[in-house]
Amino acid sequence: MPSATLMEALYGDLERVVRELQEVVRLGTPESVSGDQARRFVERFAQAERAAASGVALFTPVVVGTGSYAKEGHASAQDWLGTLSGTSAGAAKGRLAAAERAATDPTLTDALHEGGLSAAQLAVVTNAASEAPESTGNLLELLGQGASHQELSDAAARLKAAARSRETAHLRRARVHAHRHLRVHQVDSGGVRGEFFCDEVQWARVAPGIEARAKELWKAAGGGTEPLEAYRLDAFLEQLGGPGGSAGADGSAGARRPSKGARGQAIVVIDAAALRRGTSQGDELCEIEGIGPVSVEAATELLSESSVRYVIREGFDIKTVTKATRDVAACIEAALLVRDRTCARPGCAKRLGLETDHRDVDFGDDGPTELDNLVRLCPQCHDLKTYGGWRLEGEPGAWKWIAPAHPKSAHYIARARRLAAAKGRARAAAAAAAAANDAAQANDRAQADGNAKTNGTIRRNRGGP
Ligand SMILES: [Zn+2]
Repeated sequence: MPSATLMEALYGDLERVVRELQEVVRLGTPESVSGDQARRFVERFAQAERAAASGVALFTPVVVGTGSYAKEGHASAQDWLGTLSGTSAGAAKGRLAAAERAATDPTLTDALHEGGLSAAQLAVVTNAASEAPESTGNLLELLGQGASHQELSDAAARLKAAARSRETAHLRRARVHAHRHLRVHQVDSGGVRGEFFCDEVQWARVAPGIEARAKELWKAAGGGTEPLEAYRLDAFLEQLGGPGGSAGADGSAGARRPSKGARGQAIVVIDAAALRRGTSQGDELCEIEGIGPVSVEAATELLSESSVRYVIREGFDIKTVTKATRDVAACIEAALLVRDRTCARPGCAKRLGLETDHRDVDFGDDGPTELDNLVRLCPQCHDLKTYGGWRLEGEPGAWKWIAPAHPKSAHYIARARRLAAAKGRARAAAAAAAAANDAAQANDRAQADGNAKTNGTIRRNRGGP
């Protein structure tokens, strides 16, 4: 059979390529290359990894179907694949399930033949297909456009959420509630590690306060000698009534109490049509800001709470609103929330802790605070833009991330940010000192006036009849 001969020849090719790859890894000396060269090596290795993952997904269903794994002495297919790939049997089981599902879907099989799907990507796509069979084409298209894993997962979550009927959304929340937990255990090397699982609506009641307080603590500490997630834990513990971690094990450097602004507010962004219907369809929005897509039923459960703000999209255009103040007008903020659901840098897709950036003209140069001039970025991408010289060009939905002529390393950007933070602190300290000085002088004057008045009274009294 000619195709069998062809496959034998291809197997020979594969053997040779693997040998060569192993040779490169064996002989390569990473310490003798520059950072840029090393980056190119990793880019190629990652390509090889993805092609290999696609190959594994294409051929495993045949091994499982024929039971050939038993010939190597393995009791189960997941045991066999786990041993081969150096993963747990559980991880191998998930991989096998994804491969089996892909084998029944011609679109996915084609994508695997192109060699561009990592194991993790295949898992997301097949998992989405199990709930929303029509989602595969959309997700593969996204991947073809170079979407990041986060973007892919978000799109899959939206498509799945839309595919669920009101009833299944209800069942899903009941399941989440039944499995809610908080687990904490001590780590051998010191410290405790915890994990919790809860309903999105419950989390939306506390998360905005934690996020706002974390940012406040982060700013008070000079903007990031430690990552924001460290301050998020401090804020979390503080909310539970503890002193918060920023006080440190030695109790030093405790931050001030939370400001009024740190109470935070949950924001629900929802399409008017979805709200009216009671379920979302297609790519309609129904998300809790900073958490993710939820069912309309879950979103409306928050309606009665005073700490929740609703941003309802009804296709209105408020592009022309201009307000010359640092505090972005509430309606512009709402429009920005609807427009930039995630960090605007293509491929980033972070949705937690987004910051508003004045895109074209800095406010110092009289840039108008209007929607066209604003964009939401995560702190890391914001740093790349502010200190690394990267630029956003294009328009919402079609942003291009333009590299500077001489891209900077992460070390350079971190140094620039620390320097700017130190300058900011010095300016704030100088302003505070000046204000204190003014207050002291005013106080002195008031006291001198008061003394003069008192003396005058005494004199008048003495001089009286
Ligand atoms: Zn980002």
